[in-house]
Amino acid sequence: MFTSAQTTASSIIFTQRESLAYTTRYSMWLAGLVTKRDVEISRAILAQRLNVIDIENLSMGARLDPEFIEALRVSDRLLEISPDGYLPKSKVGAIREEAQGFISTLLGVSRSLVVAYQQELDQHLVAVAEKRQSESLRNLGLLISLMILTTIFIFWSGIRFLRQVKRTQIYIDSELEALEIAREELAKVNLTILTLEELNDTKNDFISTVNHELRTPLTSIIGYIELLKSEVEQGKDSKIDLIVDVVDKNALVLLDLVESILSLSRLDSKQNKPIEEEVNLISSLEKAIFVLTPQANLNNVDIKFAFSQDSDYLVMGDPNQLSQVFLNLISNAVKFSPQNSEVLITLSRTLNDQMQNQISVAITDSGIGIPEKEIPELFHRFFRASNAVNKQIVGTGLGLAIVAKIVEIHKGKISVTSQENHGSTFRVDLPAFITPLEQRILDSRVGVLERAITAIRDSEIGNLKDVYHEMGGALGIYGLDELGSQVLELSRKLASHQIDATTIADQRVKLLEALNSTYQRLKNKGDI
Ligand code: ADP
Repeated sequence: MFTSAQTTASSIIFTQRESLAYTTRYSMWLAGLVTKRDVEISRAILAQRLNVIDIENLSMGARLDPEFIEALRVSDRLLEISPDGYLPKSKVGAIREEAQGFISTLLGVSRSLVVAYQQELDQHLVAVAEKRQSESLRNLGLLISLMILTTIFIFWSGIRFLRQVKRTQIYIDSELEALEIAREELAKVNLTILTLEELNDTKNDFISTVNHELRTPLTSIIGYIELLKSEVEQGKDSKIDLIVDVVDKNALVLLDLVESILSLSRLDSKQNKPIEEEVNLISSLEKAIFVLTPQANLNNVDIKFAFSQDSDYLVMGDPNQLSQVFLNLISNAVKFSPQNSEVLITLSRTLNDQMQNQISVAITDSGIGIPEKEIPELFHRFFRASNAVNKQIVGTGLGLAIVAKIVEIHKGKISVTSQENHGSTFRVDLPAFITPLEQRILDSRVGVLERAITAIRDSEIGNLKDVYHEMGGALGIYGLDELGSQVLELSRKLASHQIDATTIADQRVKLLEALNSTYQRLKNKGDI
């Protein structure tokens, strides 16, 4: 805008200059100093200037007052009628008067053009300056408002932040306090546990001592009863016979009680660490059967023992404790069986929930059974089922508690299925003994399953037969026999082209589901 004003301004200034040059030449011509030709040249230059179009798309001619054009016309006419060369003195008088009028008009108009333009330009500059000033003021206002807002925001954020810090500090303090209280509580609980453990140990020591003290005289009493029995002639005095019999039975029950309490307190004792050795359950069970056969024969109960010769039944544990388990269970089975019945003992290798090998012993009788509601209490100390009490079958209610404790120590499981008046089955599952090599193989199963899942999932249909073959073999080697054979069977089917593409896809999905579920089971149960 300023540049265009300048350009128009130079146009106006040049016009003024050419007008001045023209009127000066004209005056000099009138004074006889220059020729008509000189004046005509100036006039031509002025005409040229008047035709120039400026940046505002206007010629100077169009900008000038009509008075100026009229004056030019008069000057042109006078020049035209004058002779060439210097103006003769005779002519000067006639022209000069007329010339003075248009010369002052030309000079006046061109000067006033400059002045008017100057004023217009000044006004324009003032307007621009005012506009800039008001814009600057507005911007300044905006800037100040922005600064005020920013300050308010910073202040507000600061206050919020401080409050937050304060709240967090309070929260941390309260958490620390709670933590300290919890720590103190824990210390108290620990102390209570220690005290209780000490009390329990003292109780165990006491029970142990009392029972030891009881056992010695009791053994002596039983010895004397045996002596009495041999001294007293059987059948001579039925009253004496009955008394000796009652004393004998009660002494034996008492001895059984003392022995059981001693066993339990030994098992409860912290010092009790079972001997860890390889135990063959076939010999443990055979020994127990041997010991209990006389008792079974008395009631004509036949003890049967079944197991497969192809497997071994080794577990890791304490042979004496394990013998006690089987003695208790088989003696119960015999004790609660009717005459002329059978007690069946089976020994087998099975897999537990985590797919680990275990040895299972099941002892089944067809005796009095256990009322269903009472089964959950069976392994509690001194518990005796109502039907056993009603039938006055002797016992202490400690045998199964001892069994449960020993099985627990051996990381096994005991379970019962029973139906009143029909019989019971007690089943003991113990982890099978495994060599370090077998253990390593077991540990690798998760990895093998992972590999099998990836390989089977990502295999092209064309390679599936070979992948199945390889993975089926690997799963079998790592003890996942069932899955292994399933995979190998699929490989065989693919080899004999017995299945179509849809069935292949369906079977792959099902197989992957089975592999995944075993994988999850092994992983979740921590069998790695
Ligand atoms: P006890 O046999 O000395 O009474 P146990 O602890 O061995 O003590 O058994 C607890 C109770 O469990 C028995 O009194 C009996 O009621 C029941 N019981 C155990 N084994 C059998 C069984 N084979 N048949 C029926 N009941 C049984």
